[in-house]
Amino acid sequence: MTRIPFKHVNDNPLDFEVKRENAVFSGNLALKKRNLVQLNGTITGSISIPCDLCAEIVEKELNEEVHFYLSDGIVHGNSDELDLVEVENSSIDMDELFASELELIKSDYFCCSSCEGSSLEREF
Ligand SMILES: [Zn+2]
Repeated sequence: MTRIPFKHVNDNPLDFEVKRENAVFSGNLALKKRNLVQLNGTITGSISIPCDLCAEIVEKELNEEVHFYLSDGIVHGNSDELDLVEVENSSIDMDELFASELELIKSDYFCCSSCEGSSLEREF
């Protein structure tokens, strides 16, 4: 089950786990206030990612803590301070959330173990 109806989340933390290639996204969802759900999760496993220096595809180990809020519609109040994702159709698409988290990780600077160290000598 990768789609969770917003209404199914209450203040009792709801566990989830989604997999994508070799990566696993697990954690829980809990209702903080009306229309606002907090997600606390961890991304583990690995992804295939090209090195930014030599372009070789390597497996990068993942161990990322992920915390953000999900809203069903617009949340009033001090939502500017929150890392907030608005869900569509009143359901939380865990697969899509995971995919965008992985995209974020992939967009970060990354260099493979054989380029590591040599990058320090490069002039940018
Ligand atoms: Zn490399």
